[in-house]
Amino acid sequence: MKTKLASLFLFLSITSYAQDHTHSSSRPLSFPDIPGYKSLKTDLHMHTVFSDGKVWPTIRVTEALRDNLDVISLTEHLEYQPHKEDIPHPDRNRSYEIALKEAKDHDLLIVHGSEITRSAPMGHNNAVFIADANKVLKDKAEDSFSEAKKQGAFVFWNHPAWYAQNPQGNPILSDFQKERIKKGELHGIEVINTTDYAEESLALALENNLTIMGTSDIHGLIDWDYTEKGNNRPITLVFAKEKSLPSLKEALFAGRTVAVYNDLLVGKEEFLLPLLKASITIENASYAGKSNVLQVDLTNSTSSDLLFENASDYTFYDSSPVFEIAAGATKRLMVKTLDRKNTIDLKLKALGCFTAPKTQPIVTYKINID
Ligand SMILES: [Zn+2]
Ligand SMILES: [Zn+2]
Repeated sequence: MKTKLASLFLFLSITSYAQDHTHSSSRPLSFPDIPGYKSLKTDLHMHTVFSDGKVWPTIRVTEALRDNLDVISLTEHLEYQPHKEDIPHPDRNRSYEIALKEAKDHDLLIVHGSEITRSAPMGHNNAVFIADANKVLKDKAEDSFSEAKKQGAFVFWNHPAWYAQNPQGNPILSDFQKERIKKGELHGIEVINTTDYAEESLALALENNLTIMGTSDIHGLIDWDYTEKGNNRPITLVFAKEKSLPSLKEALFAGRTVAVYNDLLVGKEEFLLPLLKASITIENASYAGKSNVLQVDLTNSTSSDLLFENASDYTFYDSSPVFEIAAGATKRLMVKTLDRKNTIDLKLKALGCFTAPKTQPIVTYKINID
């Protein structure tokens, strides 16, 4: 009986171990690489019980694996620890260390980060790629920023449009931020935080050459706050030369990002255009019967639904000029080319994508006809 129990126990522990390490999921986020770069799926803003989050750091690692992310950072508030009576933790590096250990056997990179948490005009700012979170905790916000810079951190302004700090829901670039930018202590800005997108933050990013960021800022569970509501968590796609921490850091400082939340993609045209080009696969282009109507299949290989408007010289035979290709789906278009051609340029405006406020990119897909 003992051996039977022992083997049953062994069996159970093996299966539960296997389950733990498959991390199969119905919701993996997916985006293609672009020429010259790997598209790293990152979420560099989240919380655990080590600040005001509701879960242990290991849960953040498991969630990230289920979402097929490449990189995360646990950015606990340095100055705000509402659970410290129950979970005393004087060392502000602990959350990172626990996540790092949990991610050890997985292909998930953990970036050491912290949230510098002040009221307006300083607001909240994430310092990632820090060496020691304890040293970033200072009385004066200015000193926290200069210490972060000393540690080589990449620093971005969190939820700058947050209405709790700016009642109009618009970011206000104060002398504090201007000074940080001038000193090379502020490098990025969230244009997407949780479910919120601010065009005004995008304008600030472009005017001040700040890296465009999107993050979940998750405190509860990704499942409850995003997935069960039919949403994907917001992420930043970072275009890095390889999947490594130094390469990620180089790409963030260079501003090679696109922020993504569901069907909203925000980034500089030089990265958004190649991403959109790589995201649609074109197949089976041929003329219908003896007609001059071209049939072509467009497949969206990303986990975001993509909305397009026809911007070509040609009109469509059987589709609205505005159409969606759902994540992973194929749309058959019938294009009236008037006479038979060997190749055409299909120009589509990506309506859910923004390279600047009110500016959507037009992508040219070259179609070679069989
Ligand atoms: Zn915050
Ligand atoms: Zn936060």
